[in-house]
Amino acid sequence: MNALDPLSVRVARLNAALASASPAAVIEKAVEALPADRLAIVSSFGTESAVLLKYVADVDPALPVLFLDTGMLFEETLDYRDRLVDVFGLTDVRSLTPQFELLERRDPARDLWLRDSESCCHIRKVRPLSDALGGFDGWINGRKRFQGEARARIAHVESDGRLLKFNPLASLTRKDIEKVFEAEGLPRHPLEKLGFSSVGCMPCTSRTREGEAPRAGRWRESGRTECGIHRIGLPAGAGCGC
Ligand code: SF4
Repeated sequence: MNALDPLSVRVARLNAALASASPAAVIEKAVEALPADRLAIVSSFGTESAVLLKYVADVDPALPVLFLDTGMLFEETLDYRDRLVDVFGLTDVRSLTPQFELLERRDPARDLWLRDSESCCHIRKVRPLSDALGGFDGWINGRKRFQGEARARIAHVESDGRLLKFNPLASLTRKDIEKVFEAEGLPRHPLEKLGFSSVGCMPCTSRTREGEAPRAGRWRESGRTECGIHRIGLPAGAGCGC
């Protein structure tokens, strides 16, 4: 991204205006910055997703929410999605699924996650989301700096050169997240009490041990920390390292 291009200037101005903004203020600014039908929320309906969705629903429960249904998710996540849709009155949750033809050709035995997890994530997550985001000018997601690794320095607003990306929870701490769960009485992901602090696809998610980073159970011992969706739109090798 060129530091002087109009989108870069816009991102810099938005970040200056939102330097100490609350999550609600960041979401309100995103709604104000983009036309009504050009802004999407992306949610995994994971262990912390209820916090972002609560703030989104407070602003507008009709905002489109994109959910990557990889076909490899825990049943508990699908149940939790349905529960949060009810709790927050979300009216436009869209499940994105991988292309059938691609799965047939590249992963007929459903073991690509074991042989080449990068490709598996590309087919099941990156490509469906990239295709869906073609219809939008910006998206909101729930990353936080305290999650570490590539997320440790995220700003409230980023851009890949075309899309604006808003991170309303960027500055929240683990304690802040807990406070929102308690103050609002938000339902918990059913797997959290079983030791899963972060939940993704079944084959690539394991319990976290005492003292480990929240996402340590994802792609354990593979060297991977992200699925790749936060590189969408960026040149190969660029971006957040996910
Ligand atoms: S998280 Fe695992 S199963 Fe899910 S898409 Fe990525 S590699 Fe495949």
